[in-house]
Amino acid sequence: MQVSRYANVHQLSFMPRMFPVNCYLVEEEDGLTLIDAALPYSMKGILLAAKRIGKPIVRIVLTHAHSDHIGALDGIKEALPDAPVYISARDSRLLAGDRSLDPDEPATPIRGGVPEKVKTRADVLLYDGDLIGSLRAVSTSGHTPGSMAFLDTRSGALIVGDAFQLRGGIAVSGQMRPLFPFPALATWNKEVALASAVQLLQLEPKLLAVGHGKMLHHPLQAMSRAVEQAKANLHSQS
Ligand SMILES: [Zn+2]
Repeated sequence: MQVSRYANVHQLSFMPRMFPVNCYLVEEEDGLTLIDAALPYSMKGILLAAKRIGKPIVRIVLTHAHSDHIGALDGIKEALPDAPVYISARDSRLLAGDRSLDPDEPATPIRGGVPEKVKTRADVLLYDGDLIGSLRAVSTSGHTPGSMAFLDTRSGALIVGDAFQLRGGIAVSGQMRPLFPFPALATWNKEVALASAVQLLQLEPKLLAVGHGKMLHHPLQAMSRAVEQAKANLHSQS
């Protein structure tokens, strides 16, 4: 596990060289907010990282319900039963194993692994604009229907789950990077993902923190390049 830090945000990266899977600990006055829960074996590392920071994990927030973002969720919830679990109302259905789509959603299939045996359910359902401590929830539908990003309103750090990837080259969710194709393969709807990426860019984050890849400082140029590339790709396909 590799730990890096920007302001109040600590990135925990598992298997950083082969198949990097990240989760985050965000410092608040009352303790730590864990964003995502990586892989099943990551539990020890997450608890150890919190111990080193010296604050308890007081809440668990999920960007989306894919297995490499909720792997240690059951274990951590068992170790910290008082920490409420937050996820978007839309992806709480996916967390519960329901892959059905709403009538007003594009009819592309939801992709990516969702573990069938996950026991933990949401305690708090999130909607666009909700505040969780210093974090503002931003709906970023596309990778999954209910994906969410979280903007640290103190530092401008933006934690986006898989709405963007950085490993293998920056990309909007759904745009394939041959060196790390997995987030694209797991994306529900590329057009919706692109619209969400444009919204994230408009937040003008100071730091981009993703599920797969190192944190990127001053990310605006790279993000807008990725958005333009995704636009060009989608237009040439239609
Ligand atoms: Zn994902």
